[in-house]
Amino acid sequence: MKFATKAIHAGVEPDPTTGAIMTPIYQTSTYVQESPGKHKGYEYSRTHNPTRTALQKALAALENGQHGICYASGLAATDAVLKLFRPGDEIIATNDLYGGTYRIMKKIFEPFGLIFHFVDMSDPVAVEAVLSPATKMIWIETPTNPLLKIIDIEAITSLARSKNVLSVVDNTFASPYLQNPLDLGADIVMHSVTKYLGGHSDTVMGALVLNDDALAQQLAFIQNASGAVPGPQDCFLVLRGLKTLHIRMQRHCENAGKLAVWLQNQPKVGKVYYPGLPTHPGHALAARQMRGFGGMISFELKGDVYQEAVSVMENLHVFSLGESLGGVESLCTHPASMTHASIPKEERAKAGLKDTLIRLSVGIEDIDDLIADLQQAIG
Ligand SMILES: *Cc1c(COP(=O)(O)O)cnc(C)c1O
Repeated sequence: MKFATKAIHAGVEPDPTTGAIMTPIYQTSTYVQESPGKHKGYEYSRTHNPTRTALQKALAALENGQHGICYASGLAATDAVLKLFRPGDEIIATNDLYGGTYRIMKKIFEPFGLIFHFVDMSDPVAVEAVLSPATKMIWIETPTNPLLKIIDIEAITSLARSKNVLSVVDNTFASPYLQNPLDLGADIVMHSVTKYLGGHSDTVMGALVLNDDALAQQLAFIQNASGAVPGPQDCFLVLRGLKTLHIRMQRHCENAGKLAVWLQNQPKVGKVYYPGLPTHPGHALAARQMRGFGGMISFELKGDVYQEAVSVMENLHVFSLGESLGGVESLCTHPASMTHASIPKEERAKAGLKDTLIRLSVGIEDIDDLIADLQQAIG
């Protein structure tokens, strides 16, 4: 089945009792058993819930994987992956990555004895340099957040495979519409479902999709044993969001492409980070690895004056200032003080993240209104 058909039909079947075309919100904690241990496959909603099952199947189908496992947030999904490891295990992660991912690694799992190395993966040689016999996982995020660097998924996952190291790709920025990491050799794909998959800024959720049966069993065990599961109402909202993922992504990409070119031509704008621009160092790789360049843009102002960046963000009206991304509405974020504040300033500087960087999640409004809004705010 092609993507658009899967987005609408995968995982969902008419409700067996009524024929309802939409999967009902099974708002229940428990399920009545006929006799002890004799039930219809559902015992308790932390373990299984029919609305969640439908969503997990849909997400697996969209990422071309066998198993989908949903968690209460993107970070709960990351938490589940990190619980696969033991003290002394080493993990290599992208250095330009979601701030919360950096925080859970450094502040929660490092004290438990996991060892992390953060490297610039736009150069696969940098990964090889920190590989050791204790390396157990490589964590890739591409396009990276917020600098939108492109990492060669095939190059890194084949390196991981050759060393028997697990590879995971945070595919939140691309969404399965633009990129399928499992097809490029990754073992697990992780999503903050909160973003493009949900698509309407109304739900916080995470997911993992993978092919390996034994590993899926381990992660489902953690889902149940640690208990960070999403509720049925949230699963319903995401099932609804998925149905328009393909058309939303098409418009996100179209609007962001136009806006990036426009920004590049503004006298007051400095560097523009967007993989769709031919001047972007990862442009050729993105064109090969992705089916579009996505809806995220970051840019700096010439002169690099902090107060000027703040005033642009204060003056935007169609773009709302807020954390998060991937919703139908345009958002603008200041990574240094918002999404990436948990990364120390020196680490941010090392990764090239300036305090004046502005990140845009380009929504699906009319492009003329988005340009006019930025025009009046930048001047
Ligand atoms: C938001 C985000 C996360 C964390 O997901 P939550 O749903 O907020 O817990 C992880 N990775 C990326 C790239 C994100 O944008």
